[in-house]
Amino acid sequence: MKMSKMGAKPEKMAPKDAETINHKLLVQAGFVRQLMAGVYTYLPFGLRVLRNIEKIVREEMDAIGGEEILMPMLHPAEIWKKTGGWDSIDVLFKLKSRTDRDYALGQSQEEVVTPTMKEFINSYRDLPRMPYHIQWKFRDELRSKSGIMRGREFLMKDMYSFHLDQADFDRFYEIAKAAYLKVFSRMGLTAKVTEASGGAFSEKISYEFEVLTDAGEVNILYCSSCEFCANVDDLSQYREGDKCPKCGKSKLKPSVAAEVGNVFDLGQKYSKAFDKGEMIYPIMGCYGIGITRTMGVIVEKFHDDKGIIWPKSIAPFLVHLVDLQQKDKAGEIYELLNKSGVEVLWDDRDDLSAGSKFAAADLIGCPVRIVISQISLDKGGVEIKLRQETEYEIISIGKIVDFLKDV
Ligand code: ATP
Ligand code: MG
Repeated sequence: MKMSKMGAKPEKMAPKDAETINHKLLVQAGFVRQLMAGVYTYLPFGLRVLRNIEKIVREEMDAIGGEEILMPMLHPAEIWKKTGGWDSIDVLFKLKSRTDRDYALGQSQEEVVTPTMKEFINSYRDLPRMPYHIQWKFRDELRSKSGIMRGREFLMKDMYSFHLDQADFDRFYEIAKAAYLKVFSRMGLTAKVTEASGGAFSEKISYEFEVLTDAGEVNILYCSSCEFCANVDDLSQYREGDKCPKCGKSKLKPSVAAEVGNVFDLGQKYSKAFDKGEMIYPIMGCYGIGITRTMGVIVEKFHDDKGIIWPKSIAPFLVHLVDLQQKDKAGEIYELLNKSGVEVLWDDRDDLSAGSKFAAADLIGCPVRIVISQISLDKGGVEIKLRQETEYEIISIGKIVDFLKDV
């Protein structure tokens, strides 16, 4: 992609109203624009990152037997009345049509997926089933000050599983939890599997995937000797300084964290609510990942005072190509990289100083910066450097593609 052809460009100044790092950097670097609190436009850079996160999530959900579908965002009120959500879910956005009918905007999709899947589940042979989709959700959140980490409209992956019995659910629950850890580690995140209450869904314990960050809203207690971690906002039998209930080795430490995903045991609540007089009421689970929130958390975790430092797996481009009065040669490199399947952003703008181009590259945060100038050519090629490093090395143009394979 050529920057001269793009509408959205990095800005010199951060937005004044931004209260969090992800909001500040994502707006300043040209990834998103805020329409109102909690509602954002994803510009080309931002959309590329979202698509990369989606891709990782999709691959891991497919790997555990997920089947991707796409459910609607606009729901008839009746399905929400059937489960009681119409009156009990305070974040549900409700609307009326001009013919005076009531609708809800999807805040989650149990009410849609359960009757849909029941059509295809006629015997135990049709189980288990794990449909999922990646779709925008709407929630009337009171506070939306965490940038893209808490949206009123946000992108979520939600999977739902249907099982013949509790044992099969328990088996898949562990598989899903392991897949979640894989998803987050592929993006460079360490997520802690955290015990929490079942919330609105059930009496049982649920598990949240928490990433330690000051930008989060969840208070946790965790053990530094083992994996134990608990959400202590509304349930807790645990206190700071208690001995770890799992390994007994260390004392529980407090931290603030962001919930990037969660998994719930739904029991038969929904399969019974959408009863059609069938013989089987599957045990259900639901499994969410906040795609847009995860993008925000990654910015909170990976940045410095100059800008974002994207992990390679989700970066908008692998390479940020800067040319300093070397348009033709830069054009050759751009073609070469594109042909080799390397995603490259070329800052081909004419009227910018070297300093401004370097500042833009740091702000946007692609993993590799390549600079081509008369000086680099005199030295034998291009300057190449990783975003988080200060030293560059000179390599010949013919060796760039090989170099990138090992980044
Ligand atoms: P939270 O406690 O943060 O409100 P939640 O328990 O309501 O989250 P779920 O309804 O289970 O979350 O949604 C699944 C995932 O979607 C969450 O783990 C989180 O990553 C993401 N998510 C939830 N609410 C929002 C929001 N308002 N903005 C962005 N992402 C969200
Ligand atoms: Mg919520």
